[in-house]
Amino acid sequence: MSVIAQQEVSVAPALPPAATLDDVLRHASPAEVISAALKIVGREHLALVSSFGTESAALLKVMADVDPAIPVVFLDTGWLFQETLDYRDALTRQLGLTDVRSIKPLEETLSREDPDKELWFSDPDACCRIRKVEPLARALKPFAAWINGRKRFQGGVRSDISVVEQDGSRLKFNPFANVSREEIEAIYTSANLPPHPLVASGFLSVGCMPCTSRSEAGEDERAGRWRGRSKTECGIHTTPTS
Ligand code: SF4
Repeated sequence: MSVIAQQEVSVAPALPPAATLDDVLRHASPAEVISAALKIVGREHLALVSSFGTESAALLKVMADVDPAIPVVFLDTGWLFQETLDYRDALTRQLGLTDVRSIKPLEETLSREDPDKELWFSDPDACCRIRKVEPLARALKPFAAWINGRKRFQGGVRSDISVVEQDGSRLKFNPFANVSREEIEAIYTSANLPPHPLVASGFLSVGCMPCTSRSEAGEDERAGRWRGRSKTECGIHTTPTS
């Protein structure tokens, strides 16, 4: 292997500022955003983070059409529905994803901080930290940039996200920042993507079992997450990963 080739594999590239990339990509299609991320960052240093939730298949489909070998990071918190784990496996097969990495919390951390598995009730922020935020930071260590599926139409703190953000020392690409719910649905229809198995049971947004409930008619799609609490985000998008 040449010296240049070795560097391409092992050394993260110098990346442009997020604001510069956002200026260029703010009106780009999701596929164009992912293609640009791939070109700028390189596959060895780029990951897509997916919950394999109710809208995840659309982003995974767009990514698979660009490059199905981009690493996909999936946070297996230990509290997920079996339906989500099955959906991960089904989509991985259907879309031909070749590098899905299921990341679990460290056993020693769980034994120390959540031995009775009741932290979700007593301190959900701490629970999310040890089951999502810390595992994601660990999983992203080899990567210089990551892709995720947040949309502005989801509202709350997501209502004004840009297409490219700075996340600590990493770049964070939001290819769906500008898309509408109808465009997401169109991707499902045209690609014949299966819905998450729990959608038929009334779940519009699916996370961990203790913190997910069905949405009522007219409710925001994330209303069923952490119902009855002020919490609306798990922390992976509000805590820098590095
Ligand atoms: S969503 Fe609930 S169960 Fe899952 S990590 Fe956060 S607090 Fe814990």
